[in-house]
Amino acid sequence: MKRTQIELADGRELIYFDERDDAVRDQPDRRDLPPPPPASQLRHDPLTDEWVAVAVHRQTRTFLPPADQCPLCPSRGDRHTEIPAPDYDVVVFENRFPSLSQRPADEPAEITPFTPVRPGLGRCEVVCFTDDHNASFARLSPSRVRTVLDALADRTAALSELPGVEQVFPFENRGEEIGVTLNHPHGQIYAYPFVTPRTRSLLAAARRHAERTGGNLYADVLAAERAGGDRVVASNAHWTAYVPAAARWPFEVHVAPHRPVPDIPALDDAERDAFGPLYLDLLRRFDGLFDVPMPYIAAWHQAPVRVDRELGHLHLQLFSIRRAKDKLKYLAGSESGMGVFINDIAPERAAELLRAA
Ligand SMILES: [Zn+2]
Repeated sequence: MKRTQIELADGRELIYFDERDDAVRDQPDRRDLPPPPPASQLRHDPLTDEWVAVAVHRQTRTFLPPADQCPLCPSRGDRHTEIPAPDYDVVVFENRFPSLSQRPADEPAEITPFTPVRPGLGRCEVVCFTDDHNASFARLSPSRVRTVLDALADRTAALSELPGVEQVFPFENRGEEIGVTLNHPHGQIYAYPFVTPRTRSLLAAARRHAERTGGNLYADVLAAERAGGDRVVASNAHWTAYVPAAARWPFEVHVAPHRPVPDIPALDDAERDAFGPLYLDLLRRFDGLFDVPMPYIAAWHQAPVRVDRELGHLHLQLFSIRRAKDKLKYLAGSESGMGVFINDIAPERAAELLRAA
């Protein structure tokens, strides 16, 4: 893989990850762009002990442009996009409308004595999986998935080094039902300046388990799922995909490496090669469930950058809000108000349907 880093017209970084070692990426960004906005504001909610990012400039961002105005397609002829080259394999660049960035805003004024405020320092990046506007992740080749994984490993390592970053979260939102604003196949990476609430809760459970048994909680759960097999959807020598016993979503699958590693950079060569075939098979099963493209969220759970790394266990959480061909699951009163999920489909049945798809 060849890595080429360039600077866009407004100073943002862009990195090409090319599968050919002789790729030349010297096209300049010919656009005239205003400077990127300053970092958003983080407000701490004392009642929940959680941070909220207030990013007002994001209201003006691009929303479902027609295909001939897609900012993630390569630049061709007179049409200049975010990617200056006329083609690419995988490309990563800093989001033009980031929720978190390294560009300091003015020191925020006090809101209440109970509401600490700080600049939203961190980073938000966009990952384009292919230059083909009409493709989807499920239609990538296994070798392209490997390139994507290598790019995510590169970015996780690099963003972990940024001042103040505590957690790196790569994810893909797919489908307008999920709220995707650009149809071109792409994912995102958020580098947060705190450990996220979901990860704090997973780590607290893992810590209690380690104190009680000395084991890694996620590894022990994974071993039990592999031994039981009822909820396993697919597996190979290095990875298993299974529906969690207490799945929150109608169709939810965890894809986990058998070896407990904290994050993507820690995966070895064989593990990285084995991921693509299994994950592509799983995505095709998702799309095959109702014979319509499945809206989904694919969320990489990585250990925090600085703390509790030994308690973590890398896994990809893939889930959909579609529960039937013509029905979506909405987060209503119990889920949104109280955080209690009501799942209409038994996890064992979901695994059965996915195995048959
Ligand atoms: Zn496009």
